[in-house]
Amino acid sequence: MPVETGVDHVEFICPKCGHQWERQYGVRHCETPSGEVREYFQIGGLWVLPPYTAAGAPRCVRCGRRVIGRLNGRH
Ligand SMILES: [Zn+2]
Repeated sequence: MPVETGVDHVEFICPKCGHQWERQYGVRHCETPSGEVREYFQIGGLWVLPPYTAAGAPRCVRCGRRVIGRLNGRH
């Protein structure tokens, strides 16, 4: 199973208070035998849910609202 690793620079802009921040996620791209590509995300060595989904959206440090990330560059 081929695995590619990379880093996603993810930008968050809180729609409630306007707070803006960026975080880097380690990404692993795994291809299943059927050719489907899956992505797994890490912060500081811990597995986390994708920041692009409601479930994995971090909370704004100012107002506590969950903010879904936007890909701002991949390396
Ligand atoms: Zn906020």
